[in-house]
Amino acid sequence: MNDYLPFMTLAIEAGKKSTCEDERSHPKVGAVIVRDGKVLETAYRGELGNGDHAEYTLFEKKLNGSDVAGTALFTTLEPCTARNTKKPCSHWVVEKGIRQVFVGMLDPNPRIYNKGCAYLKANGVEVHYFPEKLREEIERDNFSFIKQFSANPRPNGKADFDYTNNDGIFTIGNGDYIFETKWSKASDFSIHVYNDMPSVKTVAIALGAESFSEIKDATIYDGSSRARTIKEGEIVVMRNANGYCAAVKVIDVKDSSRSDAHDQIIFEYSILTDKTVDFSRVQAETEI
Ligand SMILES: [Zn+2]
Repeated sequence: MNDYLPFMTLAIEAGKKSTCEDERSHPKVGAVIVRDGKVLETAYRGELGNGDHAEYTLFEKKLNGSDVAGTALFTTLEPCTARNTKKPCSHWVVEKGIRQVFVGMLDPNPRIYNKGCAYLKANGVEVHYFPEKLREEIERDNFSFIKQFSANPRPNGKADFDYTNNDGIFTIGNGDYIFETKWSKASDFSIHVYNDMPSVKTVAIALGAESFSEIKDATIYDGSSRARTIKEGEIVVMRNANGYCAAVKVIDVKDSSRSDAHDQIIFEYSILTDKTVDFSRVQAETEI
């Protein structure tokens, strides 16, 4: 494995040069293609085009037309499995006949997590991983990208995360109106929510409310229990340690021990940053 370290390091160094095409947080990804111990080419995210993935840049732009069958690819992030318009990188890898892929870290996005590696393995590609020490460096380089899957600082928004990670905690809001929401598995259509974290004082189900605007007074609901079990489509209201209110609507729950491929919760939320308790002015569909 030590023979491969220089290529891994080269991929990490390339990844550090990655650029972001918009204000959202994107991963820093570097990729290196090697044949018989010699580097053929390197690439990083955004190197030759806004938002271009590193592997796409390698295969489509830098090595276009070259025969790379049988080579080894070193990439700091597992190749993606879904893209809006372009072919996903994992498909490029398989089509190009790459023999081995060395992956730095798995994608923290629950929609992709481990799917890239699984796709490669299912198609006969050998998958190996960078050693832990190098992976830690990649995780440091991608701190804000990883963080977005456990936090959303905006007052209104959406969360989409794996509730088996990070002790089930997803932080919404910031400053005085921060809420560390905490979740755990109940079923594939419901989930437990807790007031365990210091920032969250009470959790209550807004019984009967289907949209935030139906909640005229967030304080009327029963917040006497540490935990509540909430179903898809229901809304939980929370008060935080500073007296701010948040409403959280559970959109979708996935449960890997039942019918689903992975564990995931999607919710949308709204925080009353003026410290009132009336959500009736909040649009039913918050801006996401
Ligand atoms: Zn990709």
